[in-house]
Amino acid sequence: MKFNTKTIHGNQHPEPATGAVMTPIYQTSTYAQSSPGVHKGYEYSRGENPTRSALEAALANIENGTHGFAFGSGLAATDTVMKTLNPGDEIIAMDDLYGGSYRMFTRIYAKYGLNFHFVDMTNPQNVLEKINEKTKMIWIETPTNPLMKIVDIQAVVELVKGKDILVAVDNTFASPYLQNPLDLGADIVMHSATKYLGGHSDVVAGALVVKNKELAEKLHFQLFAGGGILGPQDSYLVLRGIKTLHVRMQRHCENGKKVAEFLSNHPKVENVYYPGLENHPNHEVAKKQMRDFGGMVTFTFKSEKKEDAVKFLETVKVFTLAESLGGVESLANHPTTMTHASIPAEKRAELGITDDLVRLSVGIEDIEDLLADLEQALG
Ligand SMILES: *Cc1c(COP(=O)(O)O)cnc(C)c1O
Repeated sequence: MKFNTKTIHGNQHPEPATGAVMTPIYQTSTYAQSSPGVHKGYEYSRGENPTRSALEAALANIENGTHGFAFGSGLAATDTVMKTLNPGDEIIAMDDLYGGSYRMFTRIYAKYGLNFHFVDMTNPQNVLEKINEKTKMIWIETPTNPLMKIVDIQAVVELVKGKDILVAVDNTFASPYLQNPLDLGADIVMHSATKYLGGHSDVVAGALVVKNKELAEKLHFQLFAGGGILGPQDSYLVLRGIKTLHVRMQRHCENGKKVAEFLSNHPKVENVYYPGLENHPNHEVAKKQMRDFGGMVTFTFKSEKKEDAVKFLETVKVFTLAESLGGVESLANHPTTMTHASIPAEKRAELGITDDLVRLSVGIEDIEDLLADLEQALG
């Protein structure tokens, strides 16, 4: 099956008891057994729930993996990956990361003895410099949040070939529609399913997909024993979201490109960060590894003034000033006070996350309305 068909049918089957085409919400915590230990594969819903299983099968299918896992949030998925590591292990992570991932690594797992090196992976050489016998994982995010940097996944995978080092990719910004990290040699794909997979800003959820049985068993153990599962209602919402992922993404990409071009030509705008623009420093890598360039666009003001960013964010009407991304509606966010406030100010300055930086999640509304809104808000 090709991708668009897979979002609807991949690993999905009508429910056997009634033929229901859409998987029902199995709102149950437990399952009747006919004799102790004799059951139909379901014992207790922390371990398995049919609605979650249907979602996990769909996730595995659209990421070209063999095993999918659904969590109560994207961070719960990341947390579960970290718990497979041991004190003393080293992780090399991208320097520009979702603020919550950075916060988890530095303020939770550093305390438990995991050592993180944050490097700019747009130059894979920087990864190589930090690899030693204690390195156990590479944590990639691409495109990055909020600077839209692109990491060459295949190039990083090449660096660790034959070594006992796992490559994990936070694929939230791209979604499986734009890139499949497992096909590029990564071992683990992580998603905040809250974003494009769910797609309607109505659920918080996370996902992991792998293609290795042993790794899958390790993760399943962590999920079952640690307990960060996704409930049946929310599993249903993500499963429903996935069925329109391809049509939504197509429009997100079309609108994202037009917004990026519009901003590039606006006299008040300084930098536009969008991997689809030819002047983006990683445009060639993006072209090689992604099917299109997505709906996330970040920009700064010529004036470099925070007040201009704030005024813009107070003035937009079709765009909503809010955290999160990847829903059908357009959102605008101020990273330094909102999504990335948990990253220390010096660190943000070092990365280029300035106070005049605005991040847009371009939705699937009519492009004329979006551009008119940007025009009026830029004044
Ligand atoms: C939102 C997000 C996360 C965290 O996911 P939650 O579902 O909010 O826990 C992780 N990575 C990226 C890139 C994100 O945008």
